[in-house]
Amino acid sequence: MERFYSDEQILIRNSVRRYCEDKVLPCAAAIDTEDRFPRGLYQGLADLGLFGICVPEPAGGSGLGAVTATIVMEEIARCSGSLGNAYALPVEAAAFLHQHGGARHHALIPGIIDGSILVATAVTEPDHGSDVAGMTTTALKDGTDYVINGTKAWVTMGAVADQLIVFAKTTTEPGHRNISCYLVEGDRPGIARGEPEALLGMHGLEDCQIHFDDVRIPQENRIGPENQAFRAAMENFNFSRLMMSAMALGMAQAAFEDALAYAKERKQFGNAIIAFQAVQFMLADMSTDIAAARLLIHHAARLSDAGHPIAKEAAHAKRFTTDMAMKHVSAALQVHGGNGYSKHYRIERIFRDVRLAQIFEGTNEIQRLIIARQLEKDAGRG
Ligand SMILES: Cc1cc2nc3c(=O)[nH]c(=O)nc-3n(C[C@H](O)[C@H](O)[C@H](O)COP(=O)(O)OP(=O)(O)OC[C@H]3O[C@@H](n4cnc5c(N)ncnc54)[C@H](O)[C@@H]3O)c2cc1C
Repeated sequence: MERFYSDEQILIRNSVRRYCEDKVLPCAAAIDTEDRFPRGLYQGLADLGLFGICVPEPAGGSGLGAVTATIVMEEIARCSGSLGNAYALPVEAAAFLHQHGGARHHALIPGIIDGSILVATAVTEPDHGSDVAGMTTTALKDGTDYVINGTKAWVTMGAVADQLIVFAKTTTEPGHRNISCYLVEGDRPGIARGEPEALLGMHGLEDCQIHFDDVRIPQENRIGPENQAFRAAMENFNFSRLMMSAMALGMAQAAFEDALAYAKERKQFGNAIIAFQAVQFMLADMSTDIAAARLLIHHAARLSDAGHPIAKEAAHAKRFTTDMAMKHVSAALQVHGGNGYSKHYRIERIFRDVRLAQIFEGTNEIQRLIIARQLEKDAGRG
């Protein structure tokens, strides 16, 4: 893989790997058990200059783009899935605000990049997840303000975010043509945050519901043109799906490395278990599928960096990588035998953490729908 990366990408990957192995890995189990947002480690990533990776240099970022962002994500998630998940938020928010926002939003980008401002994104509602267009949260115009009412669900870092990117409707009509996007300061009157969710894995991200009860914001807080945010949200999902693919890839890579080391160490019937063909084949399949996933992700990321549409390619990467990661993390646990089922080995945590990747940023069933629709469109073009 080495020769596909530029010298700069290898340098960045190595420095992220050093930071993650030295600082993140020793804390990964504590992030899981304590279930608190790891602000110090998050700040360490900001201090490495990793949050502005998809913001152009003149706007305060490094402008390195999606390929580099996915390389960085893989390294972080290899040491902690939760911190990898947290890393996606500032990278995506800074890029989104730069692309779609105005002066008020651009002013926040330096704070997001230096780690001092935490941002969360709220699309999903308790009754509307896959059906994004079905959302019922409203932002109704009142003079020069909008007044927001509704409840958002599963907001990652929702309990700790200083700023919220909220998708809501400007009318109560059904459909997606009235969805707009707003920046909502987290201390606005009328905002109530629920208790952090008790989750299977991916601990430490303080996911919660957020209730909006007559939350008033000035119209300058709107991000992008009124009623045109559905498309922006879908485009943003394409990038975030690449990031989630790279996150799952990092976890699969860690599981593979653990399984390989364990198979060389563990002896049964007088042999290291790596001598058994059944174990060899599991490791061989892991190695092959991880390499294939990495290529799918980087192919889509390269297209994205070159300005091409990537809806199908991002869905390919997300569907394949996250299913692959779940399958092989489970196989890596199997290689550990009974020890794999114990909290003394980190494969147990990776097994719980990686499961989320098949569900969020559009479930894998939705990815299949996106791919099938695109195939239909492509076939129509002849
Ligand atoms: C830990 C966690 C963190 C999250 N973070 C965020 C966040 O920060 N911001 C945010 O906005 N959201 C977030 N989400 C929400 C996440 O994106 C949704 O959970 C996801 O999109 C699925 O929506 P749902 O849970 O309502 O499931 P549903 O949409 O109710 O789906 C249930 C099942 O039905 C299937 N299904 C639904 N529709 C179809 C269809 N048309 N065809 C075939 N199958 C279908 C789904 O694939 C799934 O298997 C998070 C979720 C979790 C669990």
